[in-house]
Amino acid sequence: MSIIYNYTKVKENIEKSCIRAKRDVSDVTLIAVSKTKPVSDIQQVYDAGCRDFGENKVQEIMDKYPRLPDDIRWHMIGHLQTNKVKYIIDKVYMIHSVDSTRLADTISKEAVKKGVTVKILIEVNVAAEESKFGTGLKEAAELYDYAAALPGIEVCGFMTIAPYTVDAEQNRQYFVDLKRLSVDIIQQSNHNSICMELSMGMTGDYCVAIEEGATFVRVGTGIFGER
Ligand SMILES: *Cc1c(COP(=O)(O)O)cnc(C)c1O
Repeated sequence: MSIIYNYTKVKENIEKSCIRAKRDVSDVTLIAVSKTKPVSDIQQVYDAGCRDFGENKVQEIMDKYPRLPDDIRWHMIGHLQTNKVKYIIDKVYMIHSVDSTRLADTISKEAVKKGVTVKILIEVNVAAEESKFGTGLKEAAELYDYAAALPGIEVCGFMTIAPYTVDAEQNRQYFVDLKRLSVDIIQQSNHNSICMELSMGMTGDYCVAIEEGATFVRVGTGIFGER
């Protein structure tokens, strides 16, 4: 199947999920995860209307950034080493993978240096998988508060990578757990207009994630094909 066909299908599935969940389709942003894929593939999806693309490697963002249109919002969704933050700090729209105070500190420092404000999400390892990065569900609120107090950073919510499964239903509870965490934080906060995005759901489970409150879904294989 062509990339454009796949992209259109994913957009349709998102719409259907929103209808099922009685949610506004404009509240869910599709991030096309373009890691390992060539610029020509990305350009096709861009031309079909997509503006949000996800990458998991600093080097790949740096390679692709100058070769594609300026109005793309690049999302850093992969593990980020502190010594590489400086290369992408003024190129990415949002960093989804903040899982330590040390990384938050570095992002803050580099953002202030470049005079920018960077949107970040706290990555939570909801399923407590040993192979995955991310803070524990219990520690997530603390890291959220810590990062929220730093200059140059706007903490926008949470991200999780659910376990690989062929049955999306098996991941529903993890999405419910992350949503509950965000609701708790909103209730405890003094701000009345707190930003609370939930980046959850990939090719295998984005429909379920939307039903449980995802505002960003990250779909790679479902659009670009196997990597
Ligand atoms: C690769 C990747 C995705 C996309 O995965 P697919 O199963 O191909 O949709 C989503 N999120 C993260 C963090 C990834 O690394």
